Amino acid sequence: MTTEAVGPALDILRTHYGYDQFRFRQSEIVQTLVDGGDALVLMPTGGGKSVCYQIPAMVRDGVGVVISPLIALMQDQVNALNTMGIRASFLNSSQSFETRLEVEKNLLSGQLDLLYVSPERLNTSDFMGLLGRIKISLFAIDEAHCVSQWGHDFRSDYLRLKMLHEAFPQIPRIALTATADRRTREEIVQQLGLQNAVRFVHSFDRPNIFYRIGEGQNNRQRLWQFIEDNHAKDAGIVYCLSRKNVDAVADWLVDKGRIALPYHAGMSSEDRALHQHRFLAEEGVIIVATIAFGMGIDKPDVRFVAHLNMPRTIEAYYQETGRAGRDGLPANAWLAYGMQDVINLRMINQQNDAEETHKMLQHNKLESMLAFCEQVSCRRQTLLAYFDENLDQPCGHCDNCLQPPITWDATEAARKALSCVYRTGQRFGTNYVIDILIGKTDERIERNRHDQISTWGIGKDMSNNQWRSVFRQLLAFAYLESDADLHGGLRLTQRAKPLLAGEEKLHLREVTETGRKKRSSTSRTVIERTNQPLFERLRNLRKTIADENGVPPYVIFHDKTLHEMAAIQPLDLEHMNEISGVGEKKLERFGKAFLHEIEEFVVGLSEDGLG
Ligand code: ADP
Ligand code: ZN
Repeated sequence: MTTEAVGPALDILRTHYGYDQFRFRQSEIVQTLVDGGDALVLMPTGGGKSVCYQIPAMVRDGVGVVISPLIALMQDQVNALNTMGIRASFLNSSQSFETRLEVEKNLLSGQLDLLYVSPERLNTSDFMGLLGRIKISLFAIDEAHCVSQWGHDFRSDYLRLKMLHEAFPQIPRIALTATADRRTREEIVQQLGLQNAVRFVHSFDRPNIFYRIGEGQNNRQRLWQFIEDNHAKDAGIVYCLSRKNVDAVADWLVDKGRIALPYHAGMSSEDRALHQHRFLAEEGVIIVATIAFGMGIDKPDVRFVAHLNMPRTIEAYYQETGRAGRDGLPANAWLAYGMQDVINLRMINQQNDAEETHKMLQHNKLESMLAFCEQVSCRRQTLLAYFDENLDQPCGHCDNCLQPPITWDATEAARKALSCVYRTGQRFGTNYVIDILIGKTDERIERNRHDQISTWGIGKDMSNNQWRSVFRQLLAFAYLESDADLHGGLRLTQRAKPLLAGEEKLHLREVTETGRKKRSSTSRTVIERTNQPLFERLRNLRKTIADENGVPPYVIFHDKTLHEMAAIQPLDLEHMNEISGVGEKKLERFGKAFLHEIEEFVVGLSEDGLG
């Protein structure tokens, strides 16, 4: 029983990747495959899944076939491997016939360790024929949650991947995903026939991500404040619900002086590809997108993910925010939402012509998301609990932990609100009910004679804004529910009874009035930047080299590696080699240039000192 990966695997990690040690359970996973077994790997984004199949593919004889749905990213993935001196290539529909022939030739002559293919290509008889003629080390099924028909990334070609095992029963398989929920997990096992696979379920915690969620007005302005304060030069993603909003927000950020590019399904595929490319290739680009953007984006230095609308589910929120900070450095997840989001999302769910059970599921997921937004306790605890993971202590690294929300005894206000909903017949939306509470009149109110009822004007002591907050929380905590089909008409639930009867007390989060801004505490990305001026110089050098090689900067070195260089300031190749992320191949290709830059910097400092 060994848990230590064998020598060759560790050697590869050191020479090609420049990392000292396997982390988490990477070495066990690698060992399982090297020994010919199957593995199911559930690991959050940034956990280090790639190594788990890349290294065994090199240790074992033959070529590792990697099935990935991300055609647009294959080129980047392969570039990154080639830069580390790993023999990899890809086959998909974006290539010319000649290029494909060339790849097939290399494949047949045993010159590849890894081959990336799209599921569509894999499922052709041509390709299966090709596979029959080569030695295969393993099959890796990346983004394995694409087999799940419940998920939003479903790809029908994934369903046919089971036949790989039937055609090649001796070849080990590994399925990988960052999707955490149990249902998807079971579906992967079923659909891919992985009942005998060893399961490796990693914690889904992303400790380097700081979570902040807020509601209120002027969301755009608040977004800008957040970006200015924390991410003046960083790359990030801003998610919006509608295409129109995507375009508007992108324009607005450009006006503010940032490079911001829209991305949504209404754009031509050329424009989308171009914007994705720029996001990866340039530094400090903000992409403003609908949820159409993001799967498989393995840009490691996305420093923030912002939502200008509420995501539909906690899974979606987790997945989207998970695109921040893959490199492990501090990153921010920032979300602003409003009541309108909830109403819109409910309507979208309702209009969807899915089965009733599916709608109900979506509805419940949305309610959980809303409750998550409104809660006053640790975000991370709830997030992880949602994925059946237990965090004993509050995390100390989210908005609620750092600045516990001020709560107030809202029992009276809640009772007023609930009885007003009741007295108006449980068919009106929030705006209308609030108007009654604060004692407004208009033609509609008079026509309904709601200016005559006992609850008219009983809430004059609170502002419209405060009432909105009360209603949102009553909805979030399920004292009220809203009719999705009837313009958001409110109804009481069972939970409302004890509160109305005075048997229960209720504390709610105090509304944050705009203007009364608290200092925003977020993950400051500067904390690990031990030598900022040198880091900036190394970053510029990296950009030049990346452009010369036609690859994104992070393919040369990750930020983390540059920070370490800037802090340690190695002055010869041997010391440079000790920096995490500097493998032999990269040392050979780029080591001198970076050494030179560091030397210049150090000399410059001492000259300054003399003068
Ligand atoms: P995932 O596919 O799980 O999102 P990646 O495979 O892209 O994650 O890895 C995330 C980051 O962690 C990458 O920058 C990768 O180079 C780095 N990494 C992976 N394994 C190790 C390791 N053993 N030591 C240090 N860094 C690692
Ligand atoms: Zn917390």
